Amino acid sequence: MQPIQEFYPQLNTPSRVIVTMHQKPDGDAMGSALGLYHFLKELGHAVTVISPTNWANFLDWMPGIEQVVDFEKNREKAKKLISETEILFCLDFNILHRTKNMESFLAEANCCKVLIDHHQQPQESEFTYGISDTSKSSTCEMVYDLIINSGYANLLNSEIAECLYTGVMTDTGSFRFPSTTASVHTMVAKLKETGLNHTKVHDHIYDNFLENRLRFIGYALLNRMEVLYEYNAALMYITRPDLNRFDIKTGDTEGLVNYLLSIQGIKFGALVIDRDEERKWSFRSKGNFDVNEFARKHFEGGGHKNAAGGRSSDSLESTIKKFKEVIKEYQNQLQ
Ligand code: 5GP
Ligand code: MN
Repeated sequence: MQPIQEFYPQLNTPSRVIVTMHQKPDGDAMGSALGLYHFLKELGHAVTVISPTNWANFLDWMPGIEQVVDFEKNREKAKKLISETEILFCLDFNILHRTKNMESFLAEANCCKVLIDHHQQPQESEFTYGISDTSKSSTCEMVYDLIINSGYANLLNSEIAECLYTGVMTDTGSFRFPSTTASVHTMVAKLKETGLNHTKVHDHIYDNFLENRLRFIGYALLNRMEVLYEYNAALMYITRPDLNRFDIKTGDTEGLVNYLLSIQGIKFGALVIDRDEERKWSFRSKGNFDVNEFARKHFEGGGHKNAAGGRSSDSLESTIKKFKEVIKEYQNQLQ
């Protein structure tokens, strides 16, 4: 993988471009993809954003989202676009299998592949150019850096600003995580100067749920949470009947894991959800406990030091049992 700076000259030659991100895109994945989309369109490229799967309803207000192709819903169209593209941008993931069923088509695509990402352990050999920087708050911050560093600050507009603000806001926990550097605030100041309405973004993302989702959170906190004080950890599990009872959709469980870390003294939160095809884990930590390592070692996952995910093909009961077994190894670290 060559440094992204060497890719910049290609920005000036209008091309067929695909932008993609990880499956079940969150605010950062969708925000960075759409921010880049609007920027590349201004430069005259023919750009399509392809999402490997569907996404949460709370992203549906984002400018340009109506043009995003859902790979699972439009397989043939997406495959054709991928096979014909000249440039492929991969955002907010660095291992191709995070694009689920798109993986083999991306691997086979014979085009220039550009990585922009902030997760650990990138699969660098898959990419022609790129930047992988785990110190960055968000992929949105990195797309902003690309726009500025390639000399196109003048192209920033309110659509780009809304998209990029979304990801930096969600990935920093609304500017509270340690990754919120002075550069992040400088970036936001610059976005404000383009006319960004940040209150609108917060309202769309955080205050746009149905009653059932809040009742579901109450139910889960009351009935599905276990605090493991001996490990300064808390565990929550969500069953398939729970998801049906409260009519829980993609995105409704976003942020649930963070409640666990709001308990005094708790440094490690783990949430497992019984999804159709797998048991999906979300891990969060405070301080030095490395959930990326934990997820990699025990639950086929990864991510960042303080936020990671994983999966299991075992039953819900077995995967919880395994969690309670393996956490014993970390008792000293978690003290
Ligand atoms: P979440 O718990 O919100 O799904 O994910 C937390 C972080 O871990 C995100 O940055 C996400 O991209 C990453 N992540 C989630 N699941 C996986 C996984 O299965 N593998 C890897 N490598 N990263 C993951
Ligand atoms: Mn991200």
